[in-house]
Amino acid sequence: MVVGRFAPSPTGPLHFGSLVAAVASYCDAKSRHGQWLLRIEDVDQTRCLPNVSDDIISTLQRFGFEWDAEIIYQSQRTDLYAQALSQLRQQGLAYPCTCSRKEIADSSTLQGIEGILYPGTCLVQPVKPGTAAAWRIKTDAQTIQFHDRIQGVQQHQMRRDIGDFVIQRADGLFSYQLAVAVDDALQGIMHVVRGADLLHSTTRQIYLQQQLGFPTPTYAHIGLVRNAQGQKLSKQTLAAALPSDNLVSTLRSAFDFLPQLPNPTPALQSMPALWQWAIESWQLH
Ligand code: GLU
Ligand code: ZN
Repeated sequence: MVVGRFAPSPTGPLHFGSLVAAVASYCDAKSRHGQWLLRIEDVDQTRCLPNVSDDIISTLQRFGFEWDAEIIYQSQRTDLYAQALSQLRQQGLAYPCTCSRKEIADSSTLQGIEGILYPGTCLVQPVKPGTAAAWRIKTDAQTIQFHDRIQGVQQHQMRRDIGDFVIQRADGLFSYQLAVAVDDALQGIMHVVRGADLLHSTTRQIYLQQQLGFPTPTYAHIGLVRNAQGQKLSKQTLAAALPSDNLVSTLRSAFDFLPQLPNPTPALQSMPALWQWAIESWQLH
């Protein structure tokens, strides 16, 4: 059974780029008679705004999305992330780190895919007492490779490209990477379809899956929707919230955007007819 999901972070209302990602994961699961789940990624409570989750959910409903199980909220699943961390600690794979950003910047000359690489300071020297510690996972020289269904083969050498990354922050919040690895596995998600902004997170998630004994899903990262300035649509670039009227034409624009659907989208006037067309027409192998 194909199980897909959409996993928005409630840091702002749904925008056109997130609608496109939702449509892609929905068509991919439904075209294979699978299930589609909705997960609210509110693990970082400091960035999540009140009522935004409800707003995202009602927007998805208005566009005709139907999910096949109860919605799960990461904010209610910290026990599961804590269990994963303790498993990694027992395996000797996680260690505490009290370095500040500045200390890391001053002590490292290495660059990874996300800027300065953590040089492993706290692995070799005792952490500062009385300072709140983050937890990092040890990486090694292995290369994690996967075949993205859209972007092709991707790989990172974990120690050189990523470095020991944070799985629990010093303020106690679990990282996105850990939460996603745990939730995708526990929800039985074997087909991840999401925006290409997460392409470079995938090897970290696969690495965590491997250390935790979880299976690895297949991945498809869809091309990003950009604004007129060429920036990806996000809350930071102030992507507009989706209009609450003109639902049919907005949905049609999302279909038009996706190269996995024939272009142009037929001028069907009802949401159910449009969805039926999209699910039957979806092409992604
Ligand atoms: N919550 C993430 C976001 O909104 C997406 C996570 C995922 O699809 O893996 O960017
Ligand atoms: Zn450190």
